[in-house]
Amino acid sequence: MSGASVKVAVRVRPFNSREISKDSTCIIQMQGKTTTIQNPKNPKEALKSFNFDYSYWSHTSPEDPSFASQCLVFNDIGKEMLQHAFEGYNVCIFAYGQTGSGKSYTMMGRQEDSQEGIIPLLCEDLFEKINDNNNEDISFSVEVSYMEIYCERVRDLLNPKNKGNLRVREHPLLGPYVEDLSKLAVTSYTDIADLMDAGNKARTVAATNMNETSSRSHAVFTIVFTQKKYDIETDLSTEKVSKISLVDLAGSERADSTGAKGTRLKEGANINKSLTTLGKVISALAEVSKKKKKSDFIPYRDSVLTWLLRENLGGNSRTAMVAALSPADINYDETLSTLRYADRAK
Ligand code: ADP
Repeated sequence: MSGASVKVAVRVRPFNSREISKDSTCIIQMQGKTTTIQNPKNPKEALKSFNFDYSYWSHTSPEDPSFASQCLVFNDIGKEMLQHAFEGYNVCIFAYGQTGSGKSYTMMGRQEDSQEGIIPLLCEDLFEKINDNNNEDISFSVEVSYMEIYCERVRDLLNPKNKGNLRVREHPLLGPYVEDLSKLAVTSYTDIADLMDAGNKARTVAATNMNETSSRSHAVFTIVFTQKKYDIETDLSTEKVSKISLVDLAGSERADSTGAKGTRLKEGANINKSLTTLGKVISALAEVSKKKKKSDFIPYRDSVLTWLLRENLGGNSRTAMVAALSPADINYDETLSTLRYADRAK
């Protein structure tokens, strides 16, 4: 994999109760890395077929042996990205798809029935690796932040008193950052799990107070991981800093805001802007990596999300995307547009 290429996975979930009540049929098929979709409005139309790094079949129950489990997804994607972080790369994993398609399930998971997703599994593995290290010349530090981007405004989920609109600034060496965003040092998986819980609660409360739903904002969980190595011969220490960004994107259905008015229209346009810009950035990076060109114009600055993820998407970084799919015929248009978005990221 060269510099900017993106690992792309798709995952299809079980039917939800609404789909069952509407007698939905499953229009997705997967074989190996290939995913196909059938147009339910025109059964004679040829199946549309897409190839990805991974096609995950979770359209069954978690007890079924064919279910692509949380562990499988983590072992394929999370472990590889964590390995890159240990090598000193910045990494980014994000989940894309319409509301209800399975983004949060893939990223956060469900604690109630021990279906933890990529974020908790990655944090757990990170601390396991740190604790297993028996080289006394290496020391580690871990800091986390958790923010939400709604209508191009940034909210701190680890300091909900900070209601607002944090400023995005640029550091001459370290690049774009959010001013006053809490960055908390953690020393164990339990520390991180507590912060994640508090952040998720703050997200729901803030959304309710503002009469929104969290599906309209992007949630960005960031781990800054520092490895310090002491060299006994030179008596000097060197530092490797990696930023791991784990992003649960806003529902992609609002990328099409037809029919929306007023606030909804503005909101739709803003979400649209971040998601289309993210799409443009990723396909531009994919092009750069295919042509093995050094650089090209990448429109990071066109949205707050891509601006803040700049150091995690281009250059010295590794990116993975999981596109979450509904299996049902009633969601054909949205699911096809998700598959196309994922296809452009390759
Ligand atoms: P989103 O974050 O895209 O809005 P969710 O992750 O909340 O969607 O998923 C919607 C519902 O479907 C939740 O109840 C979730 O637990 C369930 N779900 C999603 N993906 C899967 C999956 N792969 N396997 C089992 N249940 C899933």
